[in-house]
This record gives sequence, C-alpha cells and structure tokens, in this order.
Amino acid sequence: MSNTLVIDRVRANLARLKLRRIGDILEMVMRASEEKSSLVIFDELLEEEVACREQRRVETSVKISGLPFVKGIEEFDFAFQPNLDRQKVMSLFDLTFIRQRGNVIFLGPPGTGKTHLAVSLMLKACQAGMSIYFTTMEDLIGKLKKDHEAGRKGRARGYNKSALVIVDEVGYTPIDRGECNLFFRFIANRYEKASTIITSNKAFSDWTELFQDPIIVTAVLDRLLHHSVVVNIKGPSYRLRGKMEKEEREVSQV
Ligand code: ADP
Ligand code: MG
Repeated sequence: MSNTLVIDRVRANLARLKLRRIGDILEMVMRASEEKSSLVIFDELLEEEVACREQRRVETSVKISGLPFVKGIEEFDFAFQPNLDRQKVMSLFDLTFIRQRGNVIFLGPPGTGKTHLAVSLMLKACQAGMSIYFTTMEDLIGKLKKDHEAGRKGRARGYNKSALVIVDEVGYTPIDRGECNLFFRFIANRYEKASTIITSNKAFSDWTELFQDPIIVTAVLDRLLHHSVVVNIKGPSYRLRGKMEKEEREVSQV
C-alpha cells in the first residue's frame, strides 16, 4: 500500500476513535522522529492525546461547575491577610480532606477571600480528576425544595453526588424550618461520604438565629464539624482595598 493510502487510513481511524490531538500532530511527529523507534513515537503520540483530553476535561468541568470566577491559589495574596494561617490553608491543597471525606468551613466578613479560597480548592480537585459542584445556599435550598416537592431524592444531582461541593454564602439569607430540614438532610447524606466546603459570614453561634431551630442547627454542625478544618478569616475586605487607601490619602491631604 502506498504511503498516502496508509496515512489516509490512519487519519480515518484516528477520526473514528476521536483521537483528535494525534490527528493534529501526526505528520509533525513523524517528520521529527526519523531516528526514533516506533514504540517511542507511539508513546509520544499517546502522551499528547491524553494530556490534551485531560485539559479539555478540566476546562469543561470548570465551565459547567457554576464557579462565579476562576482563580487559583497562586492569585491569592496572603500578605494582604496577615492574620490568616497560610500553612493551614496551603495544607488543604494536598486534597487529603477530600480523600478522607472531610469538610472545610471558611468563616469571615465579606470580601476576605472565602469564595476565592474555596474556588481555588475546587480547581485543584478538578485537576486531580475529582467531580466538583459549586452552589450558593440560596440556590441549593431552591433546588432541594424542588426535589422535595417532586418527591425525588435527587441522588444523581451534582450537589448530592459530587466528590466536592461548595455551598457558598451560608448565612446571607435566613431560612425557615422546612428549608432547614432539607439542608440538614443534604449535610447528613454527605456526612462521611463526600466533602463539602461551606463559606459563611456568620459565626457558628449566630447560626441558631439563622436556622431558627436550635436542635437542627446542633445536628447540622455536629455532622459538618466532626471531620473538618475551620478557617476563620479576621481581616479587611479585599474589595474595599483600593477605596480605603484612596480615602486615607484624601483625608491626609485635607
Ligand atoms: P468573600 O467570599 O469572602 O466575600 P471573595 O473571595 O469573593 O470574598 O473576594 C472578593 C474579591 O477579592 C474576589 O475577586 C477575590 O478574588 C479577591 N480577593 C479576596 N482576597 C484576596 C487576596 N487575599 N488576594 C487576592 N485577591 C483577593
Ligand atoms: Mg463570597
């Protein structure tokens, strides 16, 4: 068979197997590989295909995960938040807490980087091949209610089955007794099975008021905190950073 025919057949088979990256680089690798054994060439092509697919998988997961922004931990300025325990935060990035099905709770006032830290952990988990899901408390409650009203357990839903779920902004809006029960069930279902990251602007002691049922609050916190790392951020808002400096300059000029 002529070389052209072989190349055509290889291309057709690559397309059928959806090996797109190999299709793209095949001729270039063949040209540059005259002295390499066929095994080495085969290895190079497969490595490229796998790397390319992996990158596409991460990009797609991130796109559909509902993240409010995509920022890694390398973009987090620890110098801006000197009271934050950097070592404690960085130790989470080995993802042991997910393998052990533990939880992380970020507490602190608005703008202190709670969502940023949660998002960067989520990106790391996604790169490690774990399933991820991002939601806010308000959004989650809406979804749990819909499942409940339709008599569904929602086992196949991302917020129930993902290895890592972020529930952002717990405490921004109060919830009633029924909603509180649904949230408890959500947490109890994930307990010791999969990891949840919670961010909240309210201290645990304020959760009672928020959930309007002290018994359920205790039950939620009991499950949530049993295997958990709590990161309390006490510091200024990054969002107000520039504004505060500007105001200070203006005041000192007066
Ligand atoms: P929170 O969830 O605590 O209200 P966010 O994580 O949403 O705060 O942070 C608000 C904005 O400021 C985001 O764009 C985030 O990336 C940025 N930000 C917060 N803290 C830092 C920091 N220490 N270094 C860099 N960017 C930060
Ligand atoms: Mg936030």
